[in-house]
Amino acid sequence: MEIKVNAPAKINLSLDILKRRADGYHDVSMVMQTIDLYDTVTVTENASKEITISCDYEGVPCDKTNIAYKAADLFFNYTRIENPGIHINIDKKIPTQAGMAGGSTDGAAVIVALNKMFNTYLPVKTMKEIGARFGADVPFCIEGGTQLATGIGTDLKKIPSFPDCYIVICKPPVSVSTAEAYALCDKMNFTHPPFTKELVKAIYMRDIYLITSTLYNDFEVALDLEEVKNVKRIMYKCKSNGACMTGSGSAAFGIFTSKKKAEKCVLKLKEQYNEVFLCKPVKEGCKIVD
Ligand code: ATP
Repeated sequence: MEIKVNAPAKINLSLDILKRRADGYHDVSMVMQTIDLYDTVTVTENASKEITISCDYEGVPCDKTNIAYKAADLFFNYTRIENPGIHINIDKKIPTQAGMAGGSTDGAAVIVALNKMFNTYLPVKTMKEIGARFGADVPFCIEGGTQLATGIGTDLKKIPSFPDCYIVICKPPVSVSTAEAYALCDKMNFTHPPFTKELVKAIYMRDIYLITSTLYNDFEVALDLEEVKNVKRIMYKCKSNGACMTGSGSAAFGIFTSKKKAEKCVLKLKEQYNEVFLCKPVKEGCKIVD
């Protein structure tokens, strides 16, 4: 048996870091959005009694440290199903170390695939609980759409869908470790009121102009990356309605109401960068394709 899942990337339309907790995690408040940039995760049953991984993308490990491996291992532990043997192939399109949840969404896809393969009928709520055990972004990737995330990012609340628009993504060749980014933010001592509240209000009003003037990310301010500033400069020059870094970076996105302007922006960015994508917001998370 073989199950194929489309695993979408996410962007953060807002990201406020509220405080560092005693357990080392951070409380955040952010709006997350899935977009139509997908890894394809294919899970195939075999008789090896092992979990094996293949992924032809530089820097992605194919051993136990791959998030997809951890997801499968946890699924078998949780359901007490004896693993007959599975192979997971990841066809990666989502840039890594981009703040786009590329690893988390692969893990989420594995849970969704195994739930189908072994007829376990776990409800979405349970799949999200399993996901939260191996990554704060995983529950969101399972469900997707437009959601307000609080706590360590795993307390999710659906909010109205993001208005139709074009999203240009650009990942400059600079990599950021999420741990380092949090350490920098701890030193910043942000005192501003959370931007997420304003953004959520704008989304309820379905006002794209208000939404795009409320995009914000604490990591972007703390990291202050030259490459991100350059990408945003190009996006604004191409008349983006609003632009921002996503997650702990280093990808940035620009929102456009005009397809023509978005396409022009893609061409302009491609003169300087390799990883540039034209996307749209989607209403779903990981989804079985066939
Ligand atoms: P996030 O938005 O969740 O912080 P990210 O874009 O910063 O994600 P990822 O692309 O998810 O970061 O991965 C970061 C690192 O995790 C990679 O450099 C890689 O070494 C490791 N990794 C483990 N499993 C995967 C996977 N399935 N896909 C991508 N990276 C993985």
